[in-house]
Amino acid sequence: MNTEKIDIISGDWAQGVARAGEILRRGGIVAIPTETVYGLAASALDDEAIKKVFAAKGRPQNNPLIVHISDIKELESVADDIPEVAKKLARRFWPGPLTMVLKRKETIAKSVSAGLDTVAVRMPSSKAARDIIASSGLPLAAPSANISGSPSPTTAEHVIADLDGRVDAIVCGEDCTVGVESTVVALFSSPPRLLRPGAVTAEELSELLPDLVIDSAVLREPQKDMPVASPGMLYKHYAPKTETFLVEGESDNYVSFVNSKENCAAVCFSDEANKINATKIVYGKKDNPYILAKNLFSALRQVDTLGVHSVYVHAPDKKGMGLAVYNRLIRAAGFKVIKL
Ligand code: AMP
Ligand code: MG
Repeated sequence: MNTEKIDIISGDWAQGVARAGEILRRGGIVAIPTETVYGLAASALDDEAIKKVFAAKGRPQNNPLIVHISDIKELESVADDIPEVAKKLARRFWPGPLTMVLKRKETIAKSVSAGLDTVAVRMPSSKAARDIIASSGLPLAAPSANISGSPSPTTAEHVIADLDGRVDAIVCGEDCTVGVESTVVALFSSPPRLLRPGAVTAEELSELLPDLVIDSAVLREPQKDMPVASPGMLYKHYAPKTETFLVEGESDNYVSFVNSKENCAAVCFSDEANKINATKIVYGKKDNPYILAKNLFSALRQVDTLGVHSVYVHAPDKKGMGLAVYNRLIRAAGFKVIKL
């Protein structure tokens, strides 16, 4: 790996985790593996450390961060007025890719919440992530460890490609098993609201939250001047540099459409790949959105290595985990959706 200034923590796990914890306690910023995507962690109690995270990523100041804890008991040190249903959700889905937005506890740095009086919190299922949080002894704010706007990082190589020279260290772990960011649900007001879909699906959440509302920004571009519940959903996001279009339609129509285009690539399903003339990247089978999610960001990063003018991504169904993949893709495409 060709790196410049990053401290790469790999090898002896206990030593590596102890070193990461020490850097975090000193106010440093460290990229860490989680089951969703790699995160860029800093103490959620330290405004100066949080400022470094925003600067390293080039993240807009009004986009709040998620706080990560290693034990369900730590929830009370992050949030106030925790409703009973949040405790139920935590017992059912933690550790795992579910983030709950609750009332912020005063001790959490204001910059974590971008000035809001709410805070997003989750307990990851990745043991690596929990070991690092526990070793730091702190709640850790950790947005995705990429340059803001680019596809999220699901391998240590992705992090190094984006953040070499901008962070204190990276802990190299396994590639991320989920591959897209956590589900975000707002619980501080009624009715509960799904702000971002993820591997804990809307259908699963509805079992405990029968009045769950899906925020309109999940599937559409937020209207200008409308209040937005989740600032992160405002932006073009997750995007390759190559001009990207999301294409909805049956396989035969998608194949004919892509075959009629010049100087392009296709990000497609496995069973249509051999009918496509252009360069293609297969991101999985249409009927397995969990694999589509796992491969999504690597596929979007690979697009920029192809030297084509544009890329047409075949859209998944918007059900279950497919909704999370679709949500990332409309943003990667800057909301350019072609319906065949
Ligand atoms: P990322 O850090 O890239 O995983 O993005 C975090 C997501 O959580 C963004 O979409 C944020 O807008 C959202 N988020 C974090 N904190 C809050 C909050 N207090 N209220 C609403 N959304 C939040
Ligand atoms: Mg992100």
